[in-house]
Amino acid sequence: MQGSYDVVIIGGGVIGSSVAYHLSANPDFRGSIAVVERDPTYTTASSSLSTSSIRQQFGTQPNIRMSAYSIEFLRNAATILEVDDHSADISLREPGYLILGTPEHIAGFEAKNAAQRACGIETELLTPNEMRRRHPWLNVDDLGIGSYGPVKEGWFDGPGLLQAFRRKARAQGVDYIADRVTGIDMEFGRAVAVRLGHGDRLACGTVVNAAGAWSKGIAEMAGLDLPVEPRRRCVFVFDSPLKIPHGPFIFDTSGMAMRPEGQYYLATVTPLTENAADDFSLEVDHALFDDLIWPALAHRIPGFEQLRLLRSWAGLYEYNLFDHSGIIGRHPAVANFIFACGFSGHGMMHSPAAGAGASEIILYGESRSIDLRPFAYERIAANLAIEEHVY
Ligand SMILES: Cc1cc2nc3c(=O)[nH]c(=O)nc-3n(C[C@H](O)[C@H](O)[C@H](O)COP(=O)(O)OP(=O)(O)OC[C@H]3O[C@@H](n4cnc5c(N)ncnc54)[C@H](O)[C@@H]3O)c2cc1C
Repeated sequence: MQGSYDVVIIGGGVIGSSVAYHLSANPDFRGSIAVVERDPTYTTASSSLSTSSIRQQFGTQPNIRMSAYSIEFLRNAATILEVDDHSADISLREPGYLILGTPEHIAGFEAKNAAQRACGIETELLTPNEMRRRHPWLNVDDLGIGSYGPVKEGWFDGPGLLQAFRRKARAQGVDYIADRVTGIDMEFGRAVAVRLGHGDRLACGTVVNAAGAWSKGIAEMAGLDLPVEPRRRCVFVFDSPLKIPHGPFIFDTSGMAMRPEGQYYLATVTPLTENAADDFSLEVDHALFDDLIWPALAHRIPGFEQLRLLRSWAGLYEYNLFDHSGIIGRHPAVANFIFACGFSGHGMMHSPAAGAGASEIILYGESRSIDLRPFAYERIAANLAIEEHVY
């Protein structure tokens, strides 16, 4: 195939499809858009393998703003992304996030709480006794504090959101091309075409790197550096005689995280050793459940001691080694090369804000819906990290 598009988006996951949707929805944009996605079944895409939760409880204003913008979009996604009277229900639920801390965490939690309140996020700080009163099934013996977001936090159907963006983008005229990008042609410091499998060539005015965990390889095709690597995360689904159907998402002091999923539960943990930078395998590390998750669950929620493991899977975080936040914006030297990647485990929740802002950078040279300047690629060379610490 030989073709030409004003904008070629590489990667049709939730980020690439959000950019495609937002750009094609903007009445000021009158150009053509192609999304090149090598796997239309999204078998290995992070957007298919995500646990798709959203929280407002970040420690920095840029990420808090991304969540605040995105939750409003997600609440209205069913109508915004409706196509031909088919509503795009993404089953958003908002039971909140409960982030647990030891007595040593109290000062840090108070500082984050102040940053959140300054952004209008009404997070509550809870004592152990208050947590026990609200959640009698929770062991609070070793806890010092809890941070709870009563609204705008929860989870949704992430693959459903991806499909809704994609369906709406296609209805607005975006072409999805099922092929692999194998190279980018550069001329005079600009990306002029992407090479597809079998040697086909697509000329482009602007290229967007939305290839998730694979985005470093795409940047290299244009001769650019990108500090984004795949980080494997395993998810375990279990059942238990103890039911906490309306329970919140819980971030434990051990690093384990869990939440209800229908009548079951999902749990995950940050592994002690990360995979190598060139390891894109999706093999589940079952020892994570036996060695880290099960003991943490049994300690924190003793009623889960009788749990039954049902299934598991692994997916890849697109991990930004620099500061674990998204990279959104132009490359300073290759002005028609746009990054929308490196979200490090926040890409599902931040996809509405990222897509809205990136589409405006393409169109106007600046993001207007939301201030994305802190996420610019230039911050890496300038050493201006978004100091976001994982709870
Ligand atoms: C286990 C797990 C749990 C997570 N939980 C959460 C959560 O609770 N909340 C949250 O916000 N985020 C979460 N995330 C992160 C979130 O899922 C990602 O940030 C998000 O899905 C990234 O979307 P993406 O479109 O950038 O990447 P992807 O969905 O991976 O899409 C990238 C696409 O690029 C395509 N591609 C790659 N290379 C090429 C090429 N050469 N040519 C053509 N196409 C190419 C791939 O096929 C892929 O479809 C989680 C991730 C994982 C793995």
